[in-house]
Amino acid sequence: MEQENSAAEQDVDVVVIGAGFAGLTAARELTRQGLTVRIVEARDRIGGRTWLDHRLGRDLEIGGTWVHWTQPYVWAELKRYGIGTVPSPEPQRAFWWADGGPQHGSPDALLELIGHHNGEFTKESRTYFPEPFRPLATDAFKGIDHISVQDRIREQFPAGDARDILESFWTLNFNGPLQDAALTQALRWVALTNGDWAVNFEACATYKIQGGTAALAGAILKDSGAAVDFGFTVGSITDDGGAVTVRSTTGRTFRAKTAIITVPIHVLEKIAFEPPLPPAKAEGARGGQVSKGVKVWIRLRGEHPPFVALGLADWPLNFFQAEYTLDGDTIVVGFGPDATRINASDAAAVQDQLARLVPGMEVLDVATHDWVADPLAGETWPMHRTGFLANHLAAMRARHGNVLFAGSDLANGWGGFIDGAIESGMEAALEAASLASRPGRQERAAQEPALPEPALR
Ligand SMILES: Cc1cc2nc3c(=O)[nH]c(=O)nc-3n(C[C@H](O)[C@H](O)[C@H](O)COP(=O)(O)OP(=O)(O)OC[C@H]3O[C@@H](n4cnc5c(N)ncnc54)[C@H](O)[C@@H]3O)c2cc1C
Repeated sequence: MEQENSAAEQDVDVVVIGAGFAGLTAARELTRQGLTVRIVEARDRIGGRTWLDHRLGRDLEIGGTWVHWTQPYVWAELKRYGIGTVPSPEPQRAFWWADGGPQHGSPDALLELIGHHNGEFTKESRTYFPEPFRPLATDAFKGIDHISVQDRIREQFPAGDARDILESFWTLNFNGPLQDAALTQALRWVALTNGDWAVNFEACATYKIQGGTAALAGAILKDSGAAVDFGFTVGSITDDGGAVTVRSTTGRTFRAKTAIITVPIHVLEKIAFEPPLPPAKAEGARGGQVSKGVKVWIRLRGEHPPFVALGLADWPLNFFQAEYTLDGDTIVVGFGPDATRINASDAAAVQDQLARLVPGMEVLDVATHDWVADPLAGETWPMHRTGFLANHLAAMRARHGNVLFAGSDLANGWGGFIDGAIESGMEAALEAASLASRPGRQERAAQEPALPEPALR
């Protein structure tokens, strides 16, 4: 627990706010350069929106989970620390909704149904994003940044199963409704896998980190040697031009030459900045992200062959995937687009949703975390709304005096993923190191030749 008004101010080179993957990476990069770093974190654990927790009888990823070899930053980190990956089970059956009712068949049949239309929907990804890790490299995307995924799908596929399947697939990817979901965000994702949506889908739900996300987060923190102050909820950040003072909601402070803030954009508004944030940043934060959905783990009675199931976009839970067997039972993960539409802690409510698609399953227990209601997250995996890329991304990433902004919400590449968090932490650390290495105001004054005394008249 945080102590009230305890410590006197302490000086470090850099204060990193948030111990998620962005913050941990930034801290490691900075300590490797010999800078002094303090991480302040409101929770009592590292990992942020990744959280390996013991539920339903085994360790489960409550937040971020899957990684992929197309994700260069996280892949390099896994190699660096000698951590492998574990595949999710290959599904043997698929369930989906078409022709007004539940259907079942092979996973390939479902992939083909999605792929037939998704190829068309995403075919211009590299046209708009020729350099996927530099999304603002050309201006072409500005002409389509106002278009929502829903509008584009309905324009291309006015009705029928093609439309239903695509809407459900992209609702799953956005973890939110599609009315405000930016078409550019969908195209950016697919551009990252060279226009191949199927590889992109593989990246989203196939390879898990051996030992869980906690293993990688722990390795980065250990390597950094940085101290973490848990239970330190930042309430204000003041930059007097020479130093940054980071103050907790109970009055503890750290002073640093520079600070890196990695909190989700839904949380940014709760922190008071002096000088205040410029309008483009403040508006970007106020607009928020689309991803306000839910992830739930489900324990089913009995062992069932692995399956995937894709329902309709407006169902409270529209996707299920079997992940483990445990003591004769099956553990399945489910996703839905709106955390307010289902109490995912209620096994009966979850059972009702699963039963719409997959017959003969008995839900024994469920486990979830409401990231949207979580005051330190406010969202799940960050997915941009229409207009964010053109109007806010650059502004949100820009330095504000001696304060730098990082986090998966603002990543150039795999925004919304662990990979993007690591990328943004690396970039912010580079800039912070150069800022922190500049002579401070007092040092500058000592180095500068004294001004001549004004002549007496
Ligand atoms: C349900 C779910 C499923 C996901 N699935 C995947 C997946 O399969 N693959 C994938 O790559 N990504 C996935 N993601 C996304 C991924 O987990 C995140 O994009 C990434 O972990 C974000 O890292 P970050 O460091 O940018 O932010 P965060 O992890 O959110 O870290 C920010 C930290 O700041 C802290 N903080 C907030 N406010 C304050 C404050 N005022 N003072 C001090 N500290 C504060 C928070 O507690 C947090 O620890 C998923 C996320 C969720 C929620």
